[in-house]
Amino acid sequence: MAIIEAHGIRKSYGSLLALHDVDLTVGEGEILALIGPSGSGKSTLLRVLDLIEPADEGRLSVFGIEVASERGSWLDLRRRMGMLFQRPIVFNASVYDNVAMGLRYRRASGEEIDRRVKEALEAVGLSRYIKSRATDLSGGEQQRVALSRVLVTDPEILFLDEPTANLDPTSTATIEEIVMRLNREAGMTVLISTHDLAQGQRLAHRVGVMIEGTIAQTGASSDVFRAP
Ligand code: ADP
Ligand code: ADP
Repeated sequence: MAIIEAHGIRKSYGSLLALHDVDLTVGEGEILALIGPSGSGKSTLLRVLDLIEPADEGRLSVFGIEVASERGSWLDLRRRMGMLFQRPIVFNASVYDNVAMGLRYRRASGEEIDRRVKEALEAVGLSRYIKSRATDLSGGEQQRVALSRVLVTDPEILFLDEPTANLDPTSTATIEEIVMRLNREAGMTVLISTHDLAQGQRLAHRVGVMIEGTIAQTGASSDVFRAP
């Protein structure tokens, strides 16, 4: 089943056409990588699909629900998705509080928050740092704290915008393993943008190649990366 269907998406910033003629279907349980050079529109497309920003034109449905242009109806849909950005956002507070913040706007009892934070930290392998100050951790660990804050909300679709671009190879491999496990064991649908072709090849079932604001090609990872 398609969990995301986008047709004819177009978006400009002033006179700059950031996205045009974007058609994309993402299947439930799939890992799809958007690859392409810097400035090709990957982040913008992720923000449009994650309902952070509206498209100027085009049709979009998520979870089989047509996204109306009235942004008022977006909140319930957005709650079913989560986005991790290139730069980890962590606050000068304990790792526990950083992750619990993900549940701030959701009705949850103290006991439930406690249980979910512990599960989310377990999922990223940071249980032992629960009481540490998040800003004292390494860059890779901070990114895992930020990921944990997204996971605590149980997203059905996980968006990752260049999540490892600032990380060393070991931290990158750790994030990749976590993402693959979430997909394999929890069936989480994943959309990741990356300028690292090898990362796309390692992670994704399917790849969309973005060039100058549009998806020039989509295909199975093995086809897109096949040697000429
Ligand atoms: P990528 O993620 O592939 O690097 P982006 O989606 O970030 O590409 O950017 C696509 C184009 O849109 C770029 O030319 C970028 O400068 C522009 N752009 C992105 N976001 C904004 C914004 N908020 N305001 C103005 N221009 C933007
Ligand atoms: P990326 O690495 O994906 O290209 P950048 O580091 O260029 O992203 O941009 C970081 C943030 O700034 C993104 O949220 C992006 O949308 C925004 N941005 C990018 N280009 C511009 C721009 N020309 N004007 C305003 N915001 C921009």
